[in-house]
Amino acid sequence: MLPVVALVGRPNVGKSTLFNRLLGQRKAIVEDFPGVTRDRHYAEVTRYGSPFLLIDTGGFEPASEDRLLTQMREQSQLALEEADIIFFLMDVRDGLTASDEEVAKMLRKIDKPVFFIVNKVDGDKQEMGASEFYALGIEKIYSVSAEHGRGVSELIEDLSELLPPAPEKAEQEDEVRMAVIGRPNVGKSSLVNKLLGFERVVANPTSGTTRDSIDTPFEHDGKRYVLIDTAGIRRKGKVSQTLEKYSAVNALKAMDRAHVVLMVIDAEEGVTDQDLAVAGYAYEKGRALILVVNKWDLPEKDEKTMGKYVEEVRRRFKYLPFAPLIFVSALTGQRVNKILPIVAEVFEEFNRRIPTAQLNKGLEEFLQKNPPSMVRGQRIKFYYAAQGAVRPPTFVLFTSRPKDVHFSYQRYLTNCFREKFGFDRVPVRIQFKGRG
Ligand code: GDP
Ligand code: GDP
Repeated sequence: MLPVVALVGRPNVGKSTLFNRLLGQRKAIVEDFPGVTRDRHYAEVTRYGSPFLLIDTGGFEPASEDRLLTQMREQSQLALEEADIIFFLMDVRDGLTASDEEVAKMLRKIDKPVFFIVNKVDGDKQEMGASEFYALGIEKIYSVSAEHGRGVSELIEDLSELLPPAPEKAEQEDEVRMAVIGRPNVGKSSLVNKLLGFERVVANPTSGTTRDSIDTPFEHDGKRYVLIDTAGIRRKGKVSQTLEKYSAVNALKAMDRAHVVLMVIDAEEGVTDQDLAVAGYAYEKGRALILVVNKWDLPEKDEKTMGKYVEEVRRRFKYLPFAPLIFVSALTGQRVNKILPIVAEVFEEFNRRIPTAQLNKGLEEFLQKNPPSMVRGQRIKFYYAAQGAVRPPTFVLFTSRPKDVHFSYQRYLTNCFREKFGFDRVPVRIQFKGRG
């Protein structure tokens, strides 16, 4: 998710000129926007190291100064809602106008970074004019020439300081993205707070452009994790978020982006149908899943309680026999510190690649131990195995009759691969392909 930079300002101050300058050769996405006479332009700017999404909020024909102000307000409002950072452009040739002052006043109240930019400062001569804009009481005024490029690099330098650096591929590879999922009140927030309480949060949470998720990177035992927040988990207390929290869409979105899903179940309420549906989604998506029974401090316990509970959870989640199951209390902290080590193990399996030679040696063994059945008088032949993917581990078997492999034989082979190569806590997929 890219940070969003929005260009705001009166017509003809040079917004689209600056937009094009920052963009370089790239093409913009054009969007019709109702109520605005000019289209809005979007584009990803990638040439400065820290990528961002640039929006030219469009323009309008000023009918009158009043109308202009209203529209400026609307435009700024829009930018305000969508943007992470705002570029407010003014025009040195016009000097400081009343509507500039009005909008500047508005922009100063919001808690997002705003760059106050005076454009069309094509040479030293205009610098004098630009200093007039300090009357706004702004600490830093950028004077630029969108047309000639003057002052733009300074602007970009300062912008870059606010942007997260371009993600390095290697880093992304080994950071574990996890999502905490579960019905309201099962204790997701409590668990996350406990979990993060133990750990070093690496950087400030970066708010996503969609406003409904806040990812928190942190480290544990030398490994990097990112906690994908389903809306509201880390922002308790705000009324509007109570609603968001109930939205299944947020949970689904978080699962889409996660490697490992922590499915939180309330020890008192047990496994609900909704839990099953949500976990089913994670399974279909091939996500690694950990079942976390929370509020384990609540049930009255004897030596049989946990065993019975395990049985019950396993019975309900019978399609997820491999998912690790852990009993915790976010309230007392009991076993919460066991969660990340399990996540790390699961992630390792999730990413594990088996060399092709080993796979084929294994395959030979499996076939010998339990030969495939005959189909229409012929034995199905298996030629070759390869690991097609990780996350989840996916094995591709080349066979004479990919469509005729019986379901039970598929299960046999899947279990063989699991056992032989130690994939016992993650989903494993097997695909059959014809040769050639
Ligand atoms: P917008 O309506 O804010 O998007 O403004 P435009 O980008 O369409 O620019 C309006 C006019 O100002 C155009 O004629 C541009 O060529 C001109 N312009 C934009 N930037 C500069 C600049 O830095 N210097 C000069 N001299 N003219 C500029
Ligand atoms: P969320 O809606 O899933 O984020 O759940 P919360 O973290 O807000 O927790 C809901 C309620 O359950 C709060 O009153 C918590 O104090 C309580 N709670 C959370 N975890 C535990 C736990 O492990 N034991 C007990 N007894 N209560 C808990």
